[in-house]
Amino acid sequence: MEYLWLIIAVAVVVVGGLAGLVATRGRGRRTDSPVATKDVPDVIAPAEPTVGEDAETPRDTPTRTVEDAALPTLERPEPTASRLVRLRSRLSRSQGALGRGLLTLLSRDVIDEDTWEEIEDTLLTADVGVTPTQELVERLRTRVKVEGKTAASMRDILREELLTLIDPSLDRALHVDRKDGKPGVVLVVGVNGTGKTTTVGKLARVLVAEDKQVVLGAADTFRAAAAEQLTTWGERVGVPAVRGPEGSDPASVAFEAVKTGAEQEADVVIVDTAGRLQNKAGLMDELGKVKRVVEKQAPVSEVLLVLDATTGQNGMVQARVFSEVVDVTGIVLTKLDGSAKGGIVVAVQRELGVPVKLVGLGEGADDLAPFDPETFVDALLGGADA
Ligand code: GDP
Repeated sequence: MEYLWLIIAVAVVVVGGLAGLVATRGRGRRTDSPVATKDVPDVIAPAEPTVGEDAETPRDTPTRTVEDAALPTLERPEPTASRLVRLRSRLSRSQGALGRGLLTLLSRDVIDEDTWEEIEDTLLTADVGVTPTQELVERLRTRVKVEGKTAASMRDILREELLTLIDPSLDRALHVDRKDGKPGVVLVVGVNGTGKTTTVGKLARVLVAEDKQVVLGAADTFRAAAAEQLTTWGERVGVPAVRGPEGSDPASVAFEAVKTGAEQEADVVIVDTAGRLQNKAGLMDELGKVKRVVEKQAPVSEVLLVLDATTGQNGMVQARVFSEVVDVTGIVLTKLDGSAKGGIVVAVQRELGVPVKLVGLGEGADDLAPFDPETFVDALLGGADA
């Protein structure tokens, strides 16, 4: 009988030890951040705790400050100018068909009514929107009539008219500078799934590449992974992310983030917000509160609305709702790499009276670029260097 108890006791100890080992290894694999991955061996060793250890200073304290953890693996984000050059070909790959389609139609020997209708259809299919399409077709008709047409002149005319439609005179600069001793504050709004959190992370990299000090606010407290995702983006470039518990009040996280930014004398605080389109009143309450609370610390300098270029008319409906709820100051059009419907640039600017300031052209960390009308139109038309 005594032997039996001994065997049971030994079995319990062995099984318990194995379970502990498995749990420790599981924790070590959990993280997906390159920074954190490097930290793991420091944090979890030694594997077997000793008696009385709890009374000592925690094991990870001396080895793991934010600076120590982040420095060895910090990435250097790509400078803005080289992004544009690199992404130009991606833009022409996704948008080139629209320009080529229009040029082919306009190069026909005779442009009859059917051809004009086809031109109209091509523009509508690319989400340019009804009114801008009609305006463009009207102007093209007039110019063809007045100026006549050769293949070369058609290309020039189309380029000019597309540029006019996109309006190069709009102010597309991001207003993210410190003002009156306070950091610039950027609120990023939009429906979940549009690429909002990714855009906040990419934007942080754009600003870090410009030597700005950035603080992130993870105020999308409703999507479980959003805060984690944002923290990882921040860690990669040494930018702190302020976050609260899951489900906590987004406004209080936003407040804390801007407070931290002010205390640290950061240049800019970028606040990710929750994008639940439950109903207009709910959204208005939530974003209104975030803005009011943030403005106790510093004025909001930009409200960027993130729209997914692949969602077409749905995206336009969302844009309308958000613009009625907050004063949107700029649009970020994501996933232009996966959509041939770049005409939405025109439609959304018209609808909201707000410029597209940034475009997302891929899932890569540096696949966000300032929107430049000339580069865009040249990509549409397959310019010499596009
Ligand atoms: P959120 O819910 O709005 O915060 O959306 P996320 O930031 O989590 O992004 C949703 C998905 O869109 C992710 O898989 C991103 O990688 C992807 N995404 C974001 N921006 C772009 C882009 O410009 N191009 C492409 N192809 N994918 C993107």
